[in-house]
Amino acid sequence: MSFREKYTVFPMLLPLGSKRRGGSKLDPGVKFLVAHDTGNPRSTARNNVSYFQRSCNEMSASAHLFVDDKEILECIPALTGPPEKAWHVLYNVTTDNQMFGYDANNAAIGVEYCYGSNIQADEAYNKYVWVLAYLCYKFGLDPANKIIGHCFLDPRRKTDPVTGLLQSRRTYDQLLKDVATEFAVCSGLATPGLNITKQAGTVEVTHTLNIRQGQPNTRVPIVQTVPPHARLSYTGWTNDGEKVLNISKWYKNAQGNFFWSGGVV
Ligand SMILES: [Zn+2]
Repeated sequence: MSFREKYTVFPMLLPLGSKRRGGSKLDPGVKFLVAHDTGNPRSTARNNVSYFQRSCNEMSASAHLFVDDKEILECIPALTGPPEKAWHVLYNVTTDNQMFGYDANNAAIGVEYCYGSNIQADEAYNKYVWVLAYLCYKFGLDPANKIIGHCFLDPRRKTDPVTGLLQSRRTYDQLLKDVATEFAVCSGLATPGLNITKQAGTVEVTHTLNIRQGQPNTRVPIVQTVPPHARLSYTGWTNDGEKVLNISKWYKNAQGNFFWSGGVV
């Protein structure tokens, strides 16, 4: 099995032996992933890693990866080298031990989502979804149950990544679904749980509409862009597609491609 490398993960590693990067390996290997956001609107991936570099001996807080609309930066090795420990969940939190049997800092990769008015939310979200899916592939983790949001581990102190995802008009549940789909798409597996209602018909395009290759979501390639007033025929539809403006119904055409029902009448 191979995985589609849609993006590049750039290493921008913190100094080895600093407070933020002690250099010890994840004891039991990578057992789960923690989804974070930076909690700092408008700070980019590069802003965050640069700050970590400047302050690498001031405190021990860190995370492995930062993702924004432009790049995926790794400052503690996870994908670009043997995974090392980062400090992204307090040790006295016990939910990680209860759920996964380990402290997150000893067994999990921490991935930070960057958001804010200067960051294109959809693009940052796509990269975030992809890198979480890629981590699942790389470490043999089931995307359905090996990703946990920081706010669920430490609900009294944290709201991430729910707060940051809201900037992309997405929920945490949607994130988990999208990562599972991305995992299936990029590893060449079929989309799980896609129910197609077989019934043919035609619709009229209301806004310029993209027809997507093989999957009902905006992360697969566009095969055709259709202007308003064109008529499109379909052979069926699904309500399990990506939710766009709260609409998850997508039509499937005779070629096996999909278009979003919100762009047609
Ligand atoms: Zn966090």
